[in-house]
Amino acid sequence: MKQMTIISGKGGTGKTTLASNFIKLAKNHIAVDADVDAANLYILLKPTILQTQEFTGGPIAYLKGECINCGRCEELCRFDAISDSLADIKFDNLKCEGCGVCEYVCPADAIGLKAEKQGEYYISDTFYGKFVHARLDPGAENSGKLVTIVRNVAEDIAYRENKELIIIDGAPGIGCSVIASLNGVDFVVIIIEPTLSGISDFLKIYDVVKFFGIKPFVVINKKDINEENRQKIIRFCASGNTEIIGEIPYDERIPFNLANNTFAVDDTESIAGKEIKNIWEKIISLEL
Ligand code: SF4
Ligand code: SF4
Repeated sequence: MKQMTIISGKGGTGKTTLASNFIKLAKNHIAVDADVDAANLYILLKPTILQTQEFTGGPIAYLKGECINCGRCEELCRFDAISDSLADIKFDNLKCEGCGVCEYVCPADAIGLKAEKQGEYYISDTFYGKFVHARLDPGAENSGKLVTIVRNVAEDIAYRENKELIIIDGAPGIGCSVIASLNGVDFVVIIIEPTLSGISDFLKIYDVVKFFGIKPFVVINKKDINEENRQKIIRFCASGNTEIIGEIPYDERIPFNLANNTFAVDDTESIAGKEIKNIWEKIISLEL
């Protein structure tokens, strides 16, 4: 069983469009949306949820008993998560790291630690195979942990059901959810637009991929919008021995397909759809 992640240096580069069309073309696979902060793959895949699980982050401190107002917890919290206003102890959930020091030092046994719900994750059925996805609550952190859980669930299903491939739609950028979506995959597809900001963001994610020793393949999206920048990408990839596995032309059918919840690869008028099919053929013939 192989795993691939589709990533981009920034949002709006066509990452989810590419991932969703790969998922449409794939056979014997599991789809994963690892962009848990801004999940949107479900819009196109229209999942029927089979199972919902609660996601809890790490433990955080709360007042469970009577405080005698000694001030030790506030004094010793290294994360500045405790305030004492008008003799009323308050915990800041966003700052608390759950280290447990306050609970340990409290002479009145007034502090406890508890894990709070931070989101949900789902196993779903779609017309295009099983789909594992998640939703992080607004303001919740630990997106990397949630991505790892979602990927573990997908791996379990893949082994149980003898799937050959897990297709992971990663998050944009270089945050912890991206790192979690890269860990242990067989290869990544990085999609990039030939703009200066696109190149700058691409270089950052490219470095991360190389740091983890994962084989990258590059797809240039909207290849015809700037020839000079396109040539810069081609030269950079050649110098790093990185294969450009496809170049998708600018195509007004893409926004049309997105607006109508249809796939470019099913659209006979879409020149981008044709190229995505070519890229997919190359990907499934890769010997990795
Ligand atoms: S658990 Fe640690 S970080 Fe959280 S409030 Fe207590 S001392 Fe501060
Ligand atoms: S350590 Fe316990 S008793 Fe002292 S201020 Fe904090 S909660 Fe109150």
